[in-house]
Amino acid sequence: METVIVIGGGAAGMVAALTAAEIPGRRVVLLERQQRVGRKLLATGNGRCNLTNTGARPEHYHGENPDFAVPALAAFPPQAALEFFHGLGLVTTEEYGGRVYPLSNAAGSVVDVLRFALEARGVEVKTACPARELKRDKGGFLVVTDGEALRADKLIVACGGAAGAKLGGVADGYELLKQLGHKRTALYPALVQLTTAPEYPRALKGVRADCALRLLAGDAVLARSAGELQFTETGVSGPAAFDLSRAAAAGGRGLTLSADFFRDYDEETVLHLLRTRCESLPGLPAAEILTGMLHNRLGRMLVKYAGLNANTPLAALADGELRKLARACKDFTLALTGTEGFDSAQVTAGGVKTSGFNPETLESWFVPGLFACGEVLDIDGDCGGFNLQWAWASGRMAGRLGA
Ligand SMILES: Cc1cc2nc3c(=O)[nH]c(=O)nc-3n(C[C@H](O)[C@H](O)[C@H](O)COP(=O)(O)OP(=O)(O)OC[C@H]3O[C@@H](n4cnc5c(N)ncnc54)[C@H](O)[C@@H]3O)c2cc1C
Repeated sequence: METVIVIGGGAAGMVAALTAAEIPGRRVVLLERQQRVGRKLLATGNGRCNLTNTGARPEHYHGENPDFAVPALAAFPPQAALEFFHGLGLVTTEEYGGRVYPLSNAAGSVVDVLRFALEARGVEVKTACPARELKRDKGGFLVVTDGEALRADKLIVACGGAAGAKLGGVADGYELLKQLGHKRTALYPALVQLTTAPEYPRALKGVRADCALRLLAGDAVLARSAGELQFTETGVSGPAAFDLSRAAAAGGRGLTLSADFFRDYDEETVLHLLRTRCESLPGLPAAEILTGMLHNRLGRMLVKYAGLNANTPLAALADGELRKLARACKDFTLALTGTEGFDSAQVTAGGVKTSGFNPETLESWFVPGLFACGEVLDIDGDCGGFNLQWAWASGRMAGRLGA
Protein backbone atom coordinates (compact mmCIF):
# COMPACT_ATOMS: atom_id res chain seq x y z
CA MET A 1 0.00 0.00 0.00
CA GLU A 2 1.34 3.45 -0.90
CA THR A 3 2.15 5.56 2.16
CA VAL A 4 2.02 9.33 2.06
CA ILE A 5 3.39 11.32 4.98
CA VAL A 6 2.39 14.94 5.42
CA ILE A 7 4.61 16.90 7.83
CA GLY A 8 2.73 19.75 9.50
CA GLY A 9 -0.89 19.72 10.68
CA GLY A 10 -1.62 23.33 9.84
CA ALA A 11 -3.81 24.85 7.15
CA ALA A 12 -1.90 23.57 4.13
CA GLY A 13 -0.99 20.19 5.62
CA MET A 14 -4.54 19.30 6.66
CA VAL A 15 -5.91 20.08 3.19
CA ALA A 16 -3.02 18.20 1.57
CA ALA A 17 -3.70 15.15 3.75
CA LEU A 18 -7.44 15.24 3.04
CA THR A 19 -6.76 15.51 -0.68
CA ALA A 20 -4.23 12.67 -0.69
CA ALA A 21 -6.72 10.52 1.25
CA GLU A 22 -9.34 10.90 -1.50
CA ILE A 23 -7.59 8.05 -3.36
CA PRO A 24 -8.79 4.76 -1.82
CA GLY A 25 -6.23 2.25 -0.65
CA ARG A 26 -3.60 4.80 0.29
CA ARG A 27 -2.22 5.22 3.79
CA VAL A 28 -1.99 8.91 4.73
CA VAL A 29 -0.15 9.91 7.91
CA LEU A 30 -0.19 13.50 9.19
CA LEU A 31 2.60 14.45 11.62
CA GLU A 32 2.17 17.50 13.84
CA ARG A 33 4.84 18.65 16.30
CA GLN A 34 2.39 20.45 18.60
CA GLN A 35 -0.15 18.87 20.92
CA ARG A 36 -2.99 19.51 18.46
CA VAL A 37 -3.49 20.24 14.79
CA GLY A 38 -4.36 23.75 13.56
CA ARG A 39 -3.05 25.68 16.55
CA LYS A 40 -2.09 28.73 14.50
CA LEU A 41 -5.37 28.58 12.62
CA LEU A 42 -7.21 29.07 15.91
CA ALA A 43 -5.56 32.47 16.33
CA THR A 44 -6.16 33.72 12.79
CA GLY A 45 -8.36 36.72 12.10
CA ASN A 46 -8.33 37.67 15.79
CA GLY A 47 -9.83 34.30 16.61
CA ARG A 48 -12.43 34.59 13.81
CA CYS A 49 -10.31 33.10 10.96
CA ASN A 50 -10.46 35.18 7.81
CA LEU A 51 -10.26 32.00 5.74
CA THR A 52 -10.17 33.42 2.25
CA ASN A 53 -10.77 36.51 0.18
CA THR A 54 -13.12 36.41 -2.78
CA GLY A 55 -10.86 38.93 -4.52
CA ALA A 56 -7.70 36.78 -4.24
CA ARG A 57 -5.73 37.46 -7.40
CA PRO A 58 -2.03 36.93 -8.19
CA GLU A 59 -1.17 40.60 -7.50
CA HIS A 60 -1.91 39.97 -3.81
CA TYR A 61 1.04 37.58 -3.56
CA HIS A 62 4.77 38.20 -3.16
CA GLY A 63 8.08 36.37 -3.25
CA GLU A 64 11.11 36.10 -5.53
CA ASN A 65 8.76 34.74 -8.20
CA PRO A 66 5.13 35.48 -7.26
CA ASP A 67 3.93 33.93 -10.54
CA PHE A 68 4.84 30.57 -9.01
CA ALA A 69 1.58 30.78 -7.04
CA VAL A 70 -0.60 31.27 -10.12
CA PRO A 71 -1.30 27.64 -11.16
CA ALA A 72 -2.28 26.54 -7.64
CA LEU A 73 -4.46 29.60 -7.08
CA ALA A 74 -6.09 29.16 -10.50
CA ALA A 75 -6.79 25.47 -9.87
CA PHE A 76 -8.31 26.14 -6.44
CA PRO A 77 -9.62 29.72 -6.38
CA PRO A 78 -11.56 31.19 -3.42
CA GLN A 79 -14.88 29.88 -4.75
CA ALA A 80 -13.47 26.34 -4.90
CA ALA A 81 -12.04 26.74 -1.39
CA LEU A 82 -15.46 27.83 -0.15
CA GLU A 83 -17.18 24.90 -1.86
CA PHE A 84 -14.59 22.60 -0.27
CA PHE A 85 -15.28 24.01 3.19
CA HIS A 86 -19.05 24.06 2.68
CA GLY A 87 -18.70 20.39 1.71
CA LEU A 88 -17.03 19.77 5.07
CA GLY A 89 -19.99 21.42 6.83
CA LEU A 90 -18.66 24.92 7.43
CA VAL A 91 -21.06 27.82 6.95
CA THR A 92 -19.37 31.08 5.97
CA THR A 93 -20.15 34.75 5.62
CA GLU A 94 -18.50 37.40 3.45
CA GLU A 95 -17.63 40.81 4.88
CA TYR A 96 -16.22 44.05 3.45
CA GLY A 97 -13.32 43.72 1.06
CA GLY A 98 -14.21 40.14 0.13
CA ARG A 99 -13.03 38.76 3.49
CA VAL A 100 -14.71 35.47 4.35
CA TYR A 101 -15.21 34.20 7.92
CA PRO A 102 -17.05 31.26 9.43
CA LEU A 103 -20.61 32.27 10.27
CA SER A 104 -19.88 31.12 13.82
CA ASN A 105 -17.22 33.87 14.04
CA ALA A 106 -14.98 31.26 15.62
CA ALA A 107 -11.76 30.01 14.05
CA GLY A 108 -12.34 26.80 16.00
CA SER A 109 -15.13 25.93 13.55
CA VAL A 110 -12.63 25.80 10.67
CA VAL A 111 -10.26 23.59 12.64
CA ASP A 112 -13.13 21.37 13.78
CA VAL A 113 -14.51 20.62 10.30
CA LEU A 114 -10.98 19.81 9.12
CA ARG A 115 -10.39 17.54 12.13
CA PHE A 116 -13.68 15.69 11.60
CA ALA A 117 -12.88 15.21 7.91
CA LEU A 118 -9.40 13.88 8.66
CA GLU A 119 -10.92 11.32 10.95
CA ALA A 120 -13.71 10.42 8.51
CA ARG A 121 -11.21 9.91 5.67
CA GLY A 122 -9.01 7.68 7.80
CA VAL A 123 -5.96 9.95 7.94
CA GLU A 124 -3.65 8.80 10.75
CA VAL A 125 -2.97 11.95 12.76
CA LYS A 126 0.08 11.82 15.04
CA THR A 127 0.32 14.88 17.29
CA ALA A 128 3.27 15.84 19.52
CA CYS A 129 5.31 14.16 16.81
CA PRO A 130 7.95 16.46 15.32
CA ALA A 131 9.79 15.35 12.20
CA ARG A 132 13.48 15.74 13.03
CA GLU A 133 15.23 14.42 9.97
CA LEU A 134 14.45 13.41 6.39
CA LYS A 135 16.37 10.83 4.40
CA ARG A 136 15.90 9.35 0.94
CA ASP A 137 15.25 5.60 1.15
CA LYS A 138 14.91 3.13 -1.75
CA GLY A 139 12.82 5.36 -3.99
CA GLY A 140 10.96 6.76 -0.99
CA PHE A 141 11.74 8.57 2.25
CA LEU A 142 12.46 7.99 5.91
CA VAL A 143 11.00 10.51 8.32
CA VAL A 144 12.81 10.40 11.64
CA THR A 145 10.71 11.55 14.62
CA ASP A 146 11.65 11.46 18.31
CA GLY A 147 10.64 7.84 18.72
CA GLU A 148 10.73 6.16 15.32
CA ALA A 149 11.63 6.26 11.64
CA LEU A 150 8.56 6.22 9.39
CA ARG A 151 8.78 5.16 5.76
CA ALA A 152 6.91 7.05 3.06
CA ASP A 153 6.59 6.57 -0.67
CA LYS A 154 5.65 10.22 -1.05
CA LEU A 155 6.29 13.14 1.26
CA ILE A 156 4.58 16.51 1.63
CA VAL A 157 6.33 19.17 3.71
CA ALA A 158 3.80 21.66 5.11
CA CYS A 159 5.62 22.96 8.18
CA GLY A 160 4.60 26.60 7.76
CA GLY A 161 6.92 29.52 8.37
CA ALA A 162 8.77 31.18 11.20
CA ALA A 163 6.06 33.80 11.78
CA GLY A 164 3.72 33.61 14.76
CA ALA A 165 6.43 32.03 16.88
CA LYS A 166 4.23 32.22 19.98
CA LEU A 167 1.72 30.00 18.17
CA GLY A 168 4.31 27.45 17.17
CA GLY A 169 5.79 29.05 14.07
CA VAL A 170 9.20 27.42 13.59
CA ALA A 171 11.97 27.19 11.03
CA ASP A 172 11.77 23.36 10.87
CA GLY A 173 10.43 23.26 7.31
CA TYR A 174 13.38 25.17 5.91
CA GLU A 175 15.81 22.87 7.71
CA LEU A 176 14.03 19.66 6.67
CA LEU A 177 13.90 20.69 3.03
CA LYS A 178 17.55 21.74 3.20
CA GLN A 179 18.39 18.16 4.17
CA LEU A 180 16.99 17.12 0.79
CA GLY A 181 18.91 19.80 -1.11
CA HIS A 182 16.47 22.74 -1.19
CA LYS A 183 17.62 26.30 -0.48
CA ARG A 184 15.76 29.20 1.06
CA THR A 185 15.74 32.96 0.59
CA ALA A 186 16.29 35.54 3.35
CA LEU A 187 13.35 35.59 5.78
CA TYR A 188 11.52 38.68 7.04
CA PRO A 189 8.60 39.05 9.42
CA ALA A 190 5.63 40.39 7.42
CA LEU A 191 2.06 41.46 8.20
CA VAL A 192 3.44 42.84 11.39
CA GLN A 193 3.24 46.06 13.36
CA LEU A 194 5.57 48.87 12.29
CA THR A 195 7.63 50.59 14.97
CA THR A 196 8.05 54.35 14.70
CA ALA A 197 9.18 57.37 16.67
CA PRO A 198 6.82 56.85 19.60
CA GLU A 199 5.63 60.37 20.52
CA TYR A 200 2.48 60.63 18.39
CA PRO A 201 1.47 56.92 18.22
CA ARG A 202 1.74 56.62 22.01
CA ALA A 203 -0.53 59.62 22.51
CA LEU A 204 -3.03 58.11 20.08
CA LYS A 205 -2.82 54.53 21.37
CA GLY A 206 -5.99 52.63 20.47
CA VAL A 207 -7.22 55.15 17.89
CA ARG A 208 -8.15 53.64 14.51
CA ALA A 209 -8.37 55.69 11.34
CA ASP A 210 -8.92 55.07 7.66
CA CYS A 211 -6.00 56.35 5.60
CA ALA A 212 -3.77 55.96 2.58
CA LEU A 213 -0.26 55.11 3.69
CA ARG A 214 3.07 55.51 1.88
CA LEU A 215 6.48 54.12 2.79
CA LEU A 216 9.18 56.58 1.76
CA ALA A 217 12.95 56.54 1.37
CA GLY A 218 13.56 60.27 1.08
CA ASP A 219 11.16 61.35 -1.66
CA ALA A 220 10.98 57.91 -3.30
CA VAL A 221 7.79 55.94 -2.61
CA LEU A 222 8.76 52.32 -1.82
CA ALA A 223 5.24 51.00 -1.22
CA ARG A 224 1.64 52.14 -0.75
CA SER A 225 -1.36 50.77 1.07
CA ALA A 226 -4.80 51.92 2.17
CA GLY A 227 -7.27 50.93 4.85
CA GLU A 228 -7.43 50.92 8.60
CA LEU A 229 -4.46 52.14 10.63
CA GLN A 230 -4.29 51.59 14.37
CA PHE A 231 -1.98 53.53 16.67
CA THR A 232 -0.13 51.54 19.32
CA GLU A 233 2.34 52.10 22.14
CA THR A 234 5.31 51.65 19.80
CA GLY A 235 4.05 52.52 16.33
CA VAL A 236 1.24 51.61 13.98
CA SER A 237 -0.68 48.42 13.33
CA GLY A 238 -3.78 47.41 11.36
CA PRO A 239 -4.18 46.28 7.74
CA ALA A 240 -2.73 49.46 6.17
CA ALA A 241 0.44 49.14 8.26
CA PHE A 242 0.65 45.36 7.79
CA ASP A 243 0.59 45.70 4.04
CA LEU A 244 3.72 47.87 4.15
CA SER A 245 5.59 45.68 6.62
CA ARG A 246 7.22 43.42 4.03
CA ALA A 247 8.72 46.44 2.23
CA ALA A 248 9.57 48.10 5.57
CA ALA A 249 11.43 45.03 6.84
CA ALA A 250 13.45 44.73 3.64
CA GLY A 251 13.88 48.46 2.97
CA GLY A 252 16.81 49.36 5.23
CA ARG A 253 17.22 52.38 7.49
CA GLY A 254 16.03 55.98 7.40
CA LEU A 255 12.52 55.28 6.06
CA THR A 256 9.44 57.33 6.83
CA LEU A 257 5.72 56.69 6.78
CA SER A 258 3.27 59.23 5.42
CA ALA A 259 -0.43 58.95 6.27
CA ASP A 260 -3.21 60.69 4.33
CA PHE A 261 -6.32 60.83 6.52
CA PHE A 262 -8.47 62.35 3.77
CA ARG A 263 -7.63 59.93 0.97
CA ASP A 264 -10.80 60.70 -0.99
CA TYR A 265 -10.27 64.50 -0.88
CA ASP A 266 -7.51 66.61 -2.39
CA GLU A 267 -5.69 69.16 -0.27
CA GLU A 268 -7.70 72.12 -1.63
CA THR A 269 -10.95 70.40 -0.67
CA VAL A 270 -9.65 69.75 2.85
CA LEU A 271 -8.63 73.42 3.07
CA HIS A 272 -12.12 74.41 1.95
CA LEU A 273 -13.63 72.23 4.69
CA LEU A 274 -11.40 73.93 7.26
CA ARG A 275 -12.22 77.45 6.04
CA THR A 276 -15.94 76.65 6.10
CA ARG A 277 -15.61 75.36 9.66
CA CYS A 278 -13.89 78.62 10.70
CA GLU A 279 -16.70 80.65 9.19
CA SER A 280 -19.52 78.60 10.69
CA LEU A 281 -18.05 78.17 14.20
CA PRO A 282 -15.69 81.13 14.72
CA GLY A 283 -15.63 80.85 18.53
CA LEU A 284 -14.61 77.15 18.60
CA PRO A 285 -11.03 76.52 19.87
CA ALA A 286 -8.59 75.32 17.17
CA ALA A 287 -8.28 71.99 18.99
CA GLU A 288 -11.81 71.10 17.77
CA ILE A 289 -11.49 72.20 14.14
CA LEU A 290 -11.37 68.62 12.82
CA THR A 291 -14.06 67.32 15.20
CA GLY A 292 -16.74 65.59 13.17
CA MET A 293 -14.30 64.91 10.34
CA LEU A 294 -11.76 62.62 12.03
CA HIS A 295 -11.53 60.75 15.34
CA ASN A 296 -11.45 63.52 18.00
CA ARG A 297 -8.07 62.49 19.42
CA LEU A 298 -6.53 62.24 15.97
CA GLY A 299 -7.96 65.66 15.03
CA ARG A 300 -6.46 67.30 18.14
CA MET A 301 -3.13 65.62 17.55
CA LEU A 302 -3.01 66.89 13.93
CA VAL A 303 -3.65 70.42 15.20
CA LYS A 304 -0.63 70.03 17.49
CA TYR A 305 1.46 68.37 14.75
CA ALA A 306 0.72 71.29 12.39
CA GLY A 307 1.99 73.69 15.07
CA LEU A 308 -1.33 75.45 15.76
CA ASN A 309 -2.21 76.76 19.23
CA ALA A 310 -5.05 74.52 20.43
CA ASN A 311 -6.76 77.40 22.28
CA THR A 312 -6.88 79.93 19.44
CA PRO A 313 -10.48 80.60 18.35
CA LEU A 314 -11.09 79.47 14.78
CA ALA A 315 -11.84 83.06 13.71
CA ALA A 316 -8.30 84.06 14.70
CA LEU A 317 -6.49 81.35 12.69
CA ALA A 318 -4.47 82.67 9.77
CA ASP A 319 -5.08 81.14 6.34
CA GLY A 320 -1.44 79.96 6.34
CA GLU A 321 -2.16 77.95 9.48
CA LEU A 322 -5.18 76.34 7.83
CA ARG A 323 -2.97 75.42 4.87
CA LYS A 324 -0.44 73.81 7.24
CA LEU A 325 -3.23 71.83 8.88
CA ALA A 326 -4.67 70.70 5.53
CA ARG A 327 -1.12 69.55 4.59
CA ALA A 328 -0.77 67.69 7.91
CA CYS A 329 -4.06 65.89 7.29
CA LYS A 330 -2.81 64.72 3.89
CA ASP A 331 0.82 64.07 4.81
CA PHE A 332 1.29 63.12 8.46
CA THR A 333 4.78 61.66 8.65
CA LEU A 334 6.42 59.37 11.18
CA ALA A 335 10.05 58.22 11.26
CA LEU A 336 10.10 54.44 10.92
CA THR A 337 12.41 52.57 13.29
CA GLY A 338 11.63 49.01 12.15
CA THR A 339 9.04 46.29 12.50
CA GLU A 340 8.08 43.94 15.31
CA GLY A 341 9.71 40.50 14.90
CA PHE A 342 8.62 36.98 14.01
CA ASP A 343 6.84 36.56 17.35
CA SER A 344 4.08 38.94 16.35
CA ALA A 345 4.25 38.58 12.56
CA GLN A 346 1.34 36.91 10.77
CA VAL A 347 3.40 35.61 7.90
CA THR A 348 6.98 35.02 6.78
CA ALA A 349 8.17 36.88 3.72
CA GLY A 350 10.64 34.60 2.00
CA GLY A 351 11.00 30.86 2.38
CA VAL A 352 12.14 27.80 0.48
CA LYS A 353 13.05 28.84 -3.06
CA THR A 354 10.18 28.19 -5.43
CA SER A 355 12.63 27.61 -8.30
CA GLY A 356 13.20 24.14 -6.79
CA PHE A 357 9.55 23.12 -7.31
CA ASN A 358 7.23 22.57 -10.27
CA PRO A 359 4.46 25.21 -9.98
CA GLU A 360 1.98 22.88 -11.74
CA THR A 361 2.31 20.11 -9.12
CA LEU A 362 4.45 21.52 -6.24
CA GLU A 363 6.75 18.52 -6.65
CA SER A 364 10.48 19.04 -6.18
CA TRP A 365 12.37 19.27 -9.49
CA PHE A 366 15.25 17.22 -8.11
CA VAL A 367 13.70 14.90 -5.50
CA PRO A 368 10.82 12.98 -7.14
CA GLY A 369 8.00 12.23 -4.70
CA LEU A 370 8.76 15.24 -2.50
CA PHE A 371 6.15 18.03 -2.38
CA ALA A 372 5.89 21.29 -0.41
CA CYS A 373 2.99 23.65 0.22
CA GLY A 374 1.91 26.63 2.31
CA GLU A 375 4.01 29.26 4.00
CA VAL A 376 7.22 27.21 4.02
CA LEU A 377 7.56 28.19 0.35
CA ASP A 378 8.67 31.67 -0.67
CA ILE A 379 5.13 32.98 -1.26
CA ASP A 380 3.33 35.38 1.08
CA GLY A 381 0.09 37.23 0.63
CA ASP A 382 -1.42 40.54 1.66
CA CYS A 383 -3.59 40.96 4.73
CA GLY A 384 -7.22 39.87 4.28
CA GLY A 385 -7.46 36.09 3.91
CA PHE A 386 -4.89 35.78 1.13
CA ASN A 387 -2.39 33.69 3.11
CA LEU A 388 -4.88 31.05 4.08
CA GLN A 389 -6.13 30.99 0.49
CA TRP A 390 -2.54 30.18 -0.57
CA ALA A 391 -2.33 27.50 2.15
CA TRP A 392 -5.56 25.82 0.99
CA ALA A 393 -4.77 26.11 -2.74
CA SER A 394 -1.19 24.88 -2.43
CA GLY A 395 -2.23 22.15 0.02
CA ARG A 396 -4.85 20.98 -2.44
CA MET A 397 -2.31 20.88 -5.27
CA ALA A 398 0.41 19.14 -3.26
CA GLY A 399 -2.15 16.61 -2.00
CA ARG A 400 -2.84 15.54 -5.58
CA LEU A 401 0.75 14.22 -5.61
CA GLY A 402 1.34 15.12 -9.23
CA ALA A 403 -1.82 13.40 -10.53
C1 LIG B 1 -1.87 35.73 14.60
C2 LIG B 1 -2.06 35.32 13.18
C3 LIG B 1 -3.23 35.67 12.52
C4 LIG B 1 -3.40 35.33 11.18
N1 LIG B 1 -4.58 35.62 10.58
C5 LIG B 1 -4.78 35.26 9.29
C6 LIG B 1 -6.05 35.47 8.68
O1 LIG B 1 -7.02 35.88 9.32
N2 LIG B 1 -6.16 35.13 7.37
C7 LIG B 1 -5.13 34.59 6.64
O2 LIG B 1 -5.29 34.33 5.46
N3 LIG B 1 -3.94 34.33 7.22
C8 LIG B 1 -3.75 34.63 8.52
N4 LIG B 1 -2.56 34.34 9.12
C9 LIG B 1 -1.53 33.63 8.33
C10 LIG B 1 -1.87 32.13 8.22
O3 LIG B 1 -2.25 31.64 9.50
C11 LIG B 1 -0.68 31.33 7.71
O4 LIG B 1 -0.18 31.91 6.53
C12 LIG B 1 -1.11 29.88 7.45
O5 LIG B 1 -1.53 29.28 8.64
C13 LIG B 1 0.02 29.09 6.83
O6 LIG B 1 -0.40 27.76 6.69
P1 LIG B 1 0.65 26.58 6.73
O7 LIG B 1 -0.13 25.32 6.78
O8 LIG B 1 1.67 26.77 5.70
O9 LIG B 1 1.40 26.78 8.11
P2 LIG B 1 0.80 26.61 9.60
O10 LIG B 1 -0.65 26.85 9.61
O11 LIG B 1 1.69 27.40 10.47
O12 LIG B 1 1.01 25.07 9.88
C14 LIG B 1 2.28 24.46 9.94
C15 LIG B 1 2.20 23.32 10.93
O13 LIG B 1 3.38 22.54 10.85
C16 LIG B 1 3.75 22.15 12.16
N5 LIG B 1 5.17 21.79 12.14
C17 LIG B 1 6.23 22.63 12.03
N6 LIG B 1 7.37 21.94 12.06
C18 LIG B 1 7.04 20.64 12.21
C19 LIG B 1 7.79 19.43 12.31
N7 LIG B 1 9.12 19.42 12.32
N8 LIG B 1 7.12 18.26 12.45
C20 LIG B 1 5.76 18.22 12.48
N9 LIG B 1 4.99 19.36 12.40
C21 LIG B 1 5.63 20.54 12.25
C22 LIG B 1 3.42 23.38 12.99
O14 LIG B 1 3.31 23.08 14.36
C23 LIG B 1 2.10 23.81 12.36
O15 LIG B 1 0.98 23.22 12.99
C24 LIG B 1 -2.36 34.65 10.47
C25 LIG B 1 -1.20 34.29 11.15
C26 LIG B 1 -1.04 34.62 12.49
C27 LIG B 1 0.24 34.21 13.19
